[in-house]
Amino acid sequence: MHVVVCIKQVPNTTEVKINPETNTLIRDGVESIINPFDENALEAALVLKDKTGCKVTVLTMGPPQAEAALREALSRGVDDVVLLCDRAFAGSDTWATSYAIAQAIRNLEKADLILFGKQAIDGDTAQVGPGVAEMLDLPVITYVRKLEVEGDKVKVERVFEDGYERMEVPMPAVITVLKEMNVPRMASLKGRMRAKKAEIKMLTAAAINADPEKVGLKGSPTRVVKIFSPPAKMGGMKIEGGEPQEMADVLVSKLRERKII
Ligand SMILES: Cc1cc2nc3c(=O)[nH]c(=O)nc-3n(C[C@H](O)[C@H](O)[C@H](O)COP(=O)(O)OP(=O)(O)OC[C@H]3O[C@@H](n4cnc5c(N)ncnc54)[C@H](O)[C@@H]3O)c2cc1C
Repeated sequence: MHVVVCIKQVPNTTEVKINPETNTLIRDGVESIINPFDENALEAALVLKDKTGCKVTVLTMGPPQAEAALREALSRGVDDVVLLCDRAFAGSDTWATSYAIAQAIRNLEKADLILFGKQAIDGDTAQVGPGVAEMLDLPVITYVRKLEVEGDKVKVERVFEDGYERMEVPMPAVITVLKEMNVPRMASLKGRMRAKKAEIKMLTAAAINADPEKVGLKGSPTRVVKIFSPPAKMGGMKIEGGEPQEMADVLVSKLRERKII
C-alpha cells in the first residue's frame, strides 16, 4: 500500500498579514511550521506504516524553504518526500494548487490513500483536499477523526457539529483529517540525522507534465479583489434592573443617542 500525505508550510500564526498592494501573504519575519492539521495527517500515515509496513510519501508545493517541512517529515520516519517547486506555481489559487498536486500524484507510484489536513491555517479554505480528489476522480471523505484500513477499504469516523458518522470507502481514496485523530510523534535523533543528509526530490511544472495555462496566477480563476480585517466589535451594554417598561425606555433612549433609531 502507498500512502501520500500532502502538507503545507504555513506561518506560525493565525494572524496572517497581507500585503495590501499585491494581496499576497507577508511571510517575512514569521517562523514557518507544518500546518497543524497536516501534522495529524502525517501521524495517521506513520501509524499505518507501523501497522502494515506501507510506503509513505510526503508532498508539498511551495518555495525552496518548504524543504524544511519535508526534512521534518523525513525525521519522523516517512519513506520519501517530494517538493513541487517552480516559479510557474507562484500565485496559484486553490484550483491551480489542486491541479498541480493532482498532477504530481499522477506522476508518483500509484497512491492507494491520499491524506490531507482539514484545512490550512493561513489560507483556511479547506478546498485543496476535495479539489485534488475531484481532479483525480477519487472519492473523498472530509473531517475524519478516526481511520482504519481493512483490506482494500478505509473505515472512518466523520465528525459533525453534533455527532459523527461511520463510513467506509474503497481505496484509492482521499481523506482530510482533524486534530482529534492523534497526537503527532516527535522525531528521533536517528531520524534527524537521516533527514539532515537526505536529498530532497524537487519537481518542476514540466516534470509533472503540468499544463502551463493551468498553474500559477495565469491558471487561477479566483481573483483577490480586496483583503481587509473586519472592524473590531464594540463592547455591548447591559440594561439591568427595573420594570420592563423602564428598561425598554432606557434602551430606546440609548439607541436614539447612538442615532440607530
Ligand atoms: C488569486 C490567488 C492568488 C494567490 N496567490 C498566492 C501567493 O502568491 N502566495 C501564497 O502563498 N498564496 C497565494 N494564494 C493562496 C493559495 O492559493 C492557497 O494558500 C493554496 O491554494 C492553498 O489553499 P488553502 O491555504 O486555503 O489550503 P486548504 O485548502 O485549507 O488546505 C487543505 C489541505 O490541503 C493541503 N495543502 C494545501 N496547500 C498545499 C500545498 N501548497 N502543498 C501541499 N499540500 C497542500 C494540506 O493538507 C492542507 O491541510 C493565492 C490565492 C488566490 C485565490
